[in-house]
Amino acid sequence: MPATLEPGVLYVSNEFGIAAHLCACGCGAKIRTPLGPTDWQFDNTDAGPTLYPSIGNWQQQCQSHYFITAGEVIWMEQWTPEQIAAGRRGEERRNQRYFEQRQRKSIISRAWSWIGSRFRR
Ligand SMILES: [Zn+2]
Repeated sequence: MPATLEPGVLYVSNEFGIAAHLCACGCGAKIRTPLGPTDWQFDNTDAGPTLYPSIGNWQQQCQSHYFITAGEVIWMEQWTPEQIAAGRRGEERRNQRYFEQRQRKSIISRAWSWIGSRFRR
């Protein structure tokens, strides 16, 4: 990850298949989202970055839930505890895959190449 993340910038490493940004609410939490066919989809549109599906920061104090779509943050309703539980199970699977992938790739290359693209908060 880049040592410091700037607010309002989505950082993407194609090499590691991961994106990172500071939580859009401004709380300062670093949010990492793995990219891939079964994870998040990243698209760099002319208007700005799109990340799909939504980002739910249930591990953070702020509990923020939003989409980043074409450079804009679209705020969502907070989820019910049932929805959060269902979302967390999916996240655990994704995290496990991410760490497996990272261990393999860190042997090959340690240089992270990051592309930053801006979104409006
Ligand atoms: Zn936040």
